[in-house]
Amino acid sequence: MPKIPECDRCQLNPRNPSIVCAVHPVGPDSDRCLDFRPAAEPPKLWAPEETRFVNDELVLEQPTYDGEPVPVPRQRFTLEEKLELLNYHPLFTGRCPHCEMPYSDTETLVHWDCSHCGWIGDTI
Ligand SMILES: [Zn+2]
Repeated sequence: MPKIPECDRCQLNPRNPSIVCAVHPVGPDSDRCLDFRPAAEPPKLWAPEETRFVNDELVLEQPTYDGEPVPVPRQRFTLEEKLELLNYHPLFTGRCPHCEMPYSDTETLVHWDCSHCGWIGDTI
């Protein structure tokens, strides 16, 4: 009999396509296996106190002050929007996104309106 669904989660599974397991090389005799040994869960990643991993990203748990929860400000932009801004906005590129004209003194600029083509930078 071929392997059963439990075989993929079993400690005895050698992860070898030519053999089902060390005890039952051609698979268990029925749809249940008496030798099934659940594989250990993958180890949890260590995280500092009041943090945890969400989708491989370290995030803060709800912060507290004197026992009271502190509201966490919502992110203004999504990750995709942030990446788009990095590729687009003259604050990061030094060029007008409309006419590609370079800005002369980017360190002192507060408003990113383009004097060449009239593009208005009001996203940031
Ligand atoms: Zn421009």
